[in-house]
Amino acid sequence: MSHRIPVTVLGATGVVGQRFVRRLADHPLFRIEHLAASDRSAGKRYREACAWRLDGEPYGGLGDQVMGEGAPEHTLSPVVFSALDTGPATELEPAFARAGALVFSNASAFRMAPEVPLLVPEVNPEHLELLKVQRTHHGWSGGIVTNANCTATVLVMALAPLHAAFGVEAVLMTSMQAVSGAGYPGVPSLDILGNVIPFIRNEEPKVEEEIPKMLGRFAGRTVTPADLAVSALCHRVPVLEGHTEAVSVRLRGNPTLEDVRAAWLDWHPEPQHLGLPSAPAVPIRLHDEEDRPQVRRDVELDDGMSIHIGRLRACPVLGVKFALLGHNTERGAAGGSILNAELAHAKGYLR
Ligand code: NAP
Repeated sequence: MSHRIPVTVLGATGVVGQRFVRRLADHPLFRIEHLAASDRSAGKRYREACAWRLDGEPYGGLGDQVMGEGAPEHTLSPVVFSALDTGPATELEPAFARAGALVFSNASAFRMAPEVPLLVPEVNPEHLELLKVQRTHHGWSGGIVTNANCTATVLVMALAPLHAAFGVEAVLMTSMQAVSGAGYPGVPSLDILGNVIPFIRNEEPKVEEEIPKMLGRFAGRTVTPADLAVSALCHRVPVLEGHTEAVSVRLRGNPTLEDVRAAWLDWHPEPQHLGLPSAPAVPIRLHDEEDRPQVRRDVELDDGMSIHIGRLRACPVLGVKFALLGHNTERGAAGGSILNAELAHAKGYLR
């Protein structure tokens, strides 16, 4: 394991950062070199700076590691996983890229920048080539690769096989999103217990702009967004992990429900062909039971890396509708970012 690539985790104390640390503890390609978060955490041992909230080995076995300052002069590694909020990410991620790191970011700061890949390896692996454009454009020796908003990540995995088989014309998505999506401490318990909140700041526009970019065509130097309309209605619900989405879609050529089902079943994307360590064997799990998928029964399967689809049926308005579920802090955040880095490694962007 000594050949593993050293990595820095930025935002290591947060909800997503802790998932990075747990996933990287025994990763075959990467090993944690530096942990960093805000100035409040720098200089403390990880166990003092971080209120660890996951099961498994506490602090990923790194409880005694001293946290560094989150700047490239102090904590530069060839690979940086960023679980920073958008504010600090805006400044720090380009600084690390300039200093030579390949930054895999969860923040929204650079997702829509034309030269930055917004990557879900099963959906748009070819978009990773934007890194070459980015390096020429900025003169960086490193780069930035982003993963999408967690709600958009789950949705795009369901849409990608349909877009490839038929073409998606319109999407209406109503979400029921877990509280972990708001980070820690997140939504006050007095606001969310026994409640549904029909507002998550900036969430709906993110889903609506990120889906066309991810489904867009990469033509050498740019991504042309896919021509489809997306309407997102986002809600916070008292669930710990897992975003549920009620989805209606209009597809070209009005395929039958059996055709739609076959498109999902016949989907064999690149990470699974490449055997990337974090790629689930089956990226889309189809459920036939009338009351699935359910957060408590399904979301932790496959280490949270597959998505779940059920209740496929006809929609009188758009043609096809279904229930969708995915893990927001694994597939939608830390696990998704690590899969991005595994793809970059497989494509020769990391040594
Ligand atoms: P969080 O629990 O609030 O954690 C935020 C992290 O950022 C902490 O480690 C914090 O460190 C650090 N931080 C705060 N201010 C900083 C500063 N000025 N400089 C450096 N570090 C700073 O948030 P989260 O849920 O993990 O989210 C992290 C990022 O992932 C966000 O951009 C979020 O939008 C994105 N994301 C989250 C999810 C999700 O489901 N939660 C899904 C997809 C994407 P201290 O402990 O030292 O304050």
